[in-house]
Amino acid sequence: MNKPHVVILGGNFAGLGSAQKIREYADDSVDITVIDRKNYLLYIPNIPAEVFENKDPAEHLTLDLYPVLKHDDINFIQGDVTGIDVDNHTVAYVPSERPGSATQSLRYDYLVIAVGARLAFDKIEGFAEYGDTVSDFYYGNRLRKKLHDGSYKGGPIVVGSAKFHQGNGADGLEPYPGGSIPRAMAACEGPPVEVALTVANWLQEHGKGDASNVTITTPGKMIAEDAGEKVVGQLLDAASSMGFNYLNNTGDIVRLTADSIEFENGQKVEAELKILFPDWVAHDFLKGLPISDDQGFIITDLLMRNPKYPEIFAAGDCAAVTVPKLGAIGHQECEIIGRQIALDRGLLTVEAANQALQPVVFCIGDMGGGKGFYIRSNAWFGGDTQILKMGRIPYLLKMQYKTLFMTTKGKTPPWGNEVAEFLAEKF
Ligand SMILES: Cc1cc2nc3c(=O)[nH]c(=O)nc-3n(C[C@H](O)[C@H](O)[C@H](O)COP(=O)(O)OP(=O)(O)OC[C@H]3O[C@@H](n4cnc5c(N)ncnc54)[C@H](O)[C@@H]3O)c2cc1C
Repeated sequence: MNKPHVVILGGNFAGLGSAQKIREYADDSVDITVIDRKNYLLYIPNIPAEVFENKDPAEHLTLDLYPVLKHDDINFIQGDVTGIDVDNHTVAYVPSERPGSATQSLRYDYLVIAVGARLAFDKIEGFAEYGDTVSDFYYGNRLRKKLHDGSYKGGPIVVGSAKFHQGNGADGLEPYPGGSIPRAMAACEGPPVEVALTVANWLQEHGKGDASNVTITTPGKMIAEDAGEKVVGQLLDAASSMGFNYLNNTGDIVRLTADSIEFENGQKVEAELKILFPDWVAHDFLKGLPISDDQGFIITDLLMRNPKYPEIFAAGDCAAVTVPKLGAIGHQECEIIGRQIALDRGLLTVEAANQALQPVVFCIGDMGGGKGFYIRSNAWFGGDTQILKMGRIPYLLKMQYKTLFMTTKGKTPPWGNEVAEFLAEKF
């Protein structure tokens, strides 16, 4: 008898993680296929650290998907997914190794959507000419060259985010008693905090200034609000004692010029470098589907299933419930999906499988100079934990976590997080 076919769209953190968790819990009771337009995992969180240390991130931050998946008997297709037919249980894709391939169709019994989001730099006027970022190798290396080849002259720097247009797909969910998935003004503000701290350290180390040259901006009431008010208060106190400038309630980014950035609230700030994070936008092929919310993010319950099509799951940045857009929350979702499919296969009990998502903002960022920050918080969603630590241990944990991820080929053991929690919080 044919085994049920699980098709997973996307092979980065949430796609690879879902594939591995489904294989772990559902064992060989299912066939699994992963489709991604590229054939490697891009280890995004360490790009900023590489850029400021003048290392080429492309040399250190990839994991080849094909052998990693083959090891667990998981098929891989390098293809660009162009459509989903939720009623006929098929996905359309174009093989992407070479241009010109014909569209193919693939049938699924279960579908896991893990295609992340479009980082919409193209919505920011002037970004192509005057913007910088650290979200991939191309942009990371472009900024690295500006910093290290002398083209950056030491002028003011702005680090901030465009406004996030969150959909309505997670409205009404209650991850903690009395809690919710609130609406966020920015998609992911750990990276701007990390970049602001690191760039200030870089300025000092290179004799080009200090934190007073850097303005941190946020479209919302406060930066990184998802980390909880207490944590943000501590972060802002630390930032202001270092001399950073801070602008909140800017609204969206309207325009960049060679020496300035303009915001929706009318403010215009002088800036030689504009290191920015854009709106996280759903992919076009997800918009308007009966499984998508009003912005194109995939609607799920807290067991990561679409309520109308329970054979469809979503994980990571493309899921409506993933707010903020953090890999660490996607990681929690992969575990849930693995257990749900095992439940359907009769391999786990309802009690073992039905452990609903309780999102935790778990973020370890670089601060430059061998120091880092560590945040573990669920207060924004209605939980009661808010922890911030700064110092050498978080930096070591960030670097060690990458090594652990790469050496275990994405299968970081559960003790990885527990050790991180213990070291960061008890020392
Ligand atoms: C600079 C920076 C630093 C960050 N640091 C952290 C951090 O320290 N901790 C943390 O938890 N999070 C961090 N994040 C957020 C984290 O990177 C994302 O939350 C995470 O990458 C989401 O994983 P994902 O698999 O859902 O999506 P992605 O990583 O975006 O992967 C989506 C995958 O789908 C594929 N894909 C997309 N469309 C298609 C298509 N049509 N057909 C085929 N394949 C497709 C892509 O090729 C890609 O491989 C950071 C983000 C940035 C930008």
